Amino acid sequence: MQSVEEAAKTVAQRIQRLPMERIPLSEARGRILAENIVATRFLPPFDNSAMDGFAVRSSELPATLPIVAKVAAGQVLTDAIPPRVAIRIMTGAPVPQGLDTVVIQEDAKVEGSQVTLPASPVGDNIRRAGEDVAAGDLAVRAGERLNAAELGLLAALGMVEVPVARSPRIAIIATGDELVSIGDTPGPSQIVDSSAHTLAALIPGAGGTSNYIGIAKDDPITMAALIASAMDHDVVITTGGVSVGDRDHVRAALKAAGVELELWKVAMKPGKPFSFGLNNGRVPVFGLPGNPVSTFVAFELFVRPALLAMQGATNTQRPRAPVSLIRGYRKQAGRTHYIRARVVRNGEHLIAHPHPKQGSAILSSLVGCNALVELPAEATEIQPNTVVPAILLEAV
Ligand code: AMP
Ligand code: MG
Repeated sequence: MQSVEEAAKTVAQRIQRLPMERIPLSEARGRILAENIVATRFLPPFDNSAMDGFAVRSSELPATLPIVAKVAAGQVLTDAIPPRVAIRIMTGAPVPQGLDTVVIQEDAKVEGSQVTLPASPVGDNIRRAGEDVAAGDLAVRAGERLNAAELGLLAALGMVEVPVARSPRIAIIATGDELVSIGDTPGPSQIVDSSAHTLAALIPGAGGTSNYIGIAKDDPITMAALIASAMDHDVVITTGGVSVGDRDHVRAALKAAGVELELWKVAMKPGKPFSFGLNNGRVPVFGLPGNPVSTFVAFELFVRPALLAMQGATNTQRPRAPVSLIRGYRKQAGRTHYIRARVVRNGEHLIAHPHPKQGSAILSSLVGCNALVELPAEATEIQPNTVVPAILLEAV
């Protein structure tokens, strides 16, 4: 049985990069940039005023000067500016040729068509052309996730389209004779398939799009056929049926569907019956455990980083931080445990409040949980207030 680290490495080694595509900038939020973007323009494009005030020559100050013209954002003064005059200037307007400082209006005393201005250093309140980004600068690096900041900068550079990694399309297949679809009323021995919906909600956060194929019965032949039919996706995820019970047929079905298994157990709790393999040496297939919490944890540890790596993301990992556990735990050595917890900040310290119910079928333990606290594989006794690592699912 591989450790979590070894299993993550095995998955990472088998993942192939998706090709890139060019898409409209307006549709690129959350996507991973596929090429370095080198600026072809200067930002700002011209010297402009940072404030409302008066544009002048610094060497002529202090002085009382005639106000001879006005320039607002979007306008430009093309006339040569004679000596010893002031130009009324508004924020964002180009600084007229030959003038080198802007005195803010709060420091100016206007009387009729004259203004009295104090001494002011050269360059005051002027935003220089290219001081934000110069042509030739690396504006955004390949592998960065495109969010508001990156997209705003690329828009300022006039990029209508951006090169991004193709978004992975992920097939989701639930398995189990006991499962019914959401909207159907469960019979006396049935439950609603929830894990597929948990997965569908996790996938966009990793830059993918999901396609819910449906529920496969616990029968290896139909299961294999359904899995094989999903191989036109970039990734296939199944849930359930991966333990060793009589009805746990996914392993056999995966083999029958042409999936070469590389992993089928990982030393973790929850989520031990995790399997992973490649179909035709190409399509990654993740066999996640059926229990909803196990599905969630296995997705976080293995699938999310894999989806981001397929897109060439520089950062495939959630942030981690040391947290202080408010209660103690006793466990067997051998498996890494992931405790669902709410982490709160107390001054400089992060305090983890574990959910009281840690069973892998306790869906409610994930609600309000913002961290997975990691109890190391070798640990057996964890005292209250021990500092342990945690995976942060949200900023704390
Ligand atoms: P299995 O791995 O198929 O043995 O499933 C383990 C447990 O998870 C069983 O109690 C199943 O009923 C439950 N389970 C399996 N798949 C799902 C699902 N898609 N949604 C909710 N619970 C599930
Ligand atoms: Mg099952």
